[in-house]
This record gives sequence, structure tokens and C-alpha cells, in this order.
Amino acid sequence: MFKTETVNYGGGIYAFDQGMVRAFLILGKERALLFDTGIEPFDLKSAIGEITPLPVILYLSHSDIDHIGGIGEFDTIYVHEAEVKRLMAAEKTEKSNIIPLKEGFEFDLGERRLELIHCPGHTPGSGALLDSKNKLLFSGDTISYGPVYMFGEGRDDSEYLRTLGRLLDMYKDEQFEKVYPCHNTCPIDGGVTEDLIKCMEEIRERPENRIKTPMKDNEGRTVFEYRKGKCGIYHI
Ligand SMILES: [Zn+2]
Repeated sequence: MFKTETVNYGGGIYAFDQGMVRAFLILGKERALLFDTGIEPFDLKSAIGEITPLPVILYLSHSDIDHIGGIGEFDTIYVHEAEVKRLMAAEKTEKSNIIPLKEGFEFDLGERRLELIHCPGHTPGSGALLDSKNKLLFSGDTISYGPVYMFGEGRDDSEYLRTLGRLLDMYKDEQFEKVYPCHNTCPIDGGVTEDLIKCMEEIRERPENRIKTPMKDNEGRTVFEYRKGKCGIYHI
């Protein structure tokens, strides 16, 4: 049982926080966007209604179970096209409800635009939303202090490294500063992307630094934690 707490970050950004994961409600002048739905269904529509009367669209950063708990309340779900198969496999929605998006798609919320950045690696169709006017990135699970779960179905190390490299370039290019992740501390500085890249390098080059966890994957293999700076990654 997860208790849902509403958090106001200011600047038209709210979270529905369930402790281990959070969903975001991002307000524009004409529309609001719900970014994920948390792990456990709750009365999302009235929680949203207490914040805004604006029409709300649902976007999913990806289809892991801790992000799709409340999708049953929505008839229309926006998600990157590479995530559709996985989302269908979760059996919580109909294909007719899903609107597949491509890299670069823009949600126009009215005086706030959110651009889809395809971030394959954590899952094939993971996607972050960039608010370039305010230099913010809603990162899903791609950037966070973590530990980022990089074991199990859908994960791809080399894609994830490529994605992190691209996001670090965007950060250095000042396309965003602050990151709003779905797990752990929020918001965080986008510079921690570098720590995640270093964690991935540890996995490849210095596995002796790994820390054993009590967790096992589906095949009974031990999960290890790799840490650098502020970030961690769980990996086999
Ligand atoms: Zn997650």
C-alpha cells in the first residue's frame, strides 16, 4: 500500500509522490500534462482536479510497472513508438488507447512546450520531456540519483550509454539545467549525468568495485550496485 502525497515544486510543476516513485503534473496556460501515473492506482482525477481545472493529457516516460499503475483512468495515452509493444504486454490498456510518438514531438500546453527526447537504454522507448524555455528536463528513469535499475527485460547497456552521452552534451550546451526524475531526490542538477556514465564505465571496466545487494533477477542471479558520485546503478 503506497500513500500518495501531492508536492508543489513551484513554476506549475507538481508531483504525486508514492515514496518509491513519483508522477508529475506539468501545467501550461491551456492544458496540463500528466507525466506517468505512479505504481499504485489512486484517485488521480480528483487529485488533479484539486490542482487545476485544465484538460489533462497523459504521457508515459516508459512502461515499467512503477510508472503505469493509474493508466486505467485514461482513454488516451501518449508514449514513444518504441515502447508500444512493451506497454501492450503489461495488459493494462487497449492498443486503440495508445498514441505512438516520434522523437521531437512537441506537446503545446499553452505558454509551455515540452519536446520528446527519445532515451533508449532503460527501456527501448524511454522518453524524457524537455522544457527548453525553462531549461528543465523530465527524465523518467533515465537520469536520477538512482540506483537506476539496469537489469531485466528491455534494458540495453550500449543504448543507455549513448543516451547518457547525448543528454550530457545537451546539458553542457545549456539546453537544460535542472532535472525532474521519477525516483529519489528531486529536482537535481543535470550534471549528474556524468556520474551515471562513470557508473556504466565501472560495470564494463572495474567490476571489482561493485557492491553486492540482497536482490536477485528473474533468473536468480545476484544484482550488484555500482556507484559514482551521487548516482548508482543496479546491474547483474
Ligand atoms: Zn521506475
